[in-house]
Amino acid sequence: MVEFCCIPIVYIMKTIIYSTKDFERPYFERLNNGRHVLYYIDALLNPDTVYLAEGFEAVCIFVHDEMNADTIKRLSQIGIKLIALRCTGYNNIDIKAAKTVNIKVVHVPAYSPQAVAEHAVALIMALTRKTHKAYNRVRENNFLLENLLGFNLYGKTVGIIGMGKIGEAFGKIMLGFGCRVIAYDIQHGRDVPEEIAFKSFDEILQLSDIISIHCPLTPATRYLFNKETFSKMKKGSMLINTGRGGIVNTLDAIEALKNGLLGYLGIDVYENEEALFFKDLSAKIIKDDTIERLICFHNVIVTPHQAFFTHEALEEIVNITLKNLSDFATGLDPKNQIE
Ligand code: NAD
Repeated sequence: MVEFCCIPIVYIMKTIIYSTKDFERPYFERLNNGRHVLYYIDALLNPDTVYLAEGFEAVCIFVHDEMNADTIKRLSQIGIKLIALRCTGYNNIDIKAAKTVNIKVVHVPAYSPQAVAEHAVALIMALTRKTHKAYNRVRENNFLLENLLGFNLYGKTVGIIGMGKIGEAFGKIMLGFGCRVIAYDIQHGRDVPEEIAFKSFDEILQLSDIISIHCPLTPATRYLFNKETFSKMKKGSMLINTGRGGIVNTLDAIEALKNGLLGYLGIDVYENEEALFFKDLSAKIIKDDTIERLICFHNVIVTPHQAFFTHEALEEIVNITLKNLSDFATGLDPKNQIE
């Protein structure tokens, strides 16, 4: 009897992983299992650090790495064939420039929409019931209820901007609270639960008690929330942003909070977050007055781009990133390629 043995097929991509975080490395090491040659550095990929990619075939980057046309051209000159994003959004990459020099770009189109959706809900719950204030208060043995008065979610109208994977996961949770859920998307009429009604952008602004942003940052969505849009929102309503910081004009949001147009703001992303997020700056003087002003409001919660940050999501991000590298190495057209 002839026995066939299975020879493992090894697809190796020499890849430099920029802006590696301590929390990701164990996932990469465990799930890669020796398949690809991975080199970890904590530096961001930018014009000053691009030379470190010499000798590699692929660069793997995250949300804050700067991929402008100049950086991409230099990557091509040193032989980089693939840019693998280990995130969904790709607003930080000049896709056209990558195409011009024939560098392929892949991303992780979906890993755990629930992780981000649940974080948006966590921001809403903290803001409605003021648990952030109660937590600090009780630690000082202050058990008063004054200024902790909240409101029910049941029966409120929740507007979703961007009814994609995360928007849909978020909408389903809010339906469970007994909210009326309405949505705006440029792909009007997507297949979503029938209880969710599509509306125009202006209707979302006018009707919603809570608006949650789940669209990408594009030229069309940059500063989608600004002075004019805040003035069309229900007075005292809540805005949640777990999409991208540039979708909200932060200075306009501060003005809207000061004059009471905006009642609550919960953000996991901030337009100038690159200089702050993912860093311990507790012993430093923060020079960004805008974020410092925001943090001072009692009705604002800022989290440091952590909506994606669950065990399940990390495992999926790393698995898909490694699969993207393997697909490229085998000559398959990776299905997660950004055109
Ligand atoms: P998706 O592609 O499934 O959905 C995005 C939706 O937005 C699509 O339905 C699209 O038609 C819609 N859209 C695009 N432009 C629009 C516009 N001008 N107005 C209204 N809708 C518009 O993406 P997703 O997986 O749901 O992710 C959404 C965004 O969430 C990502 O682009 C990313 O920026 C952000 N995100 C944040 C985190 C985090 O940790 N905070 C994690 C993952 C994703």
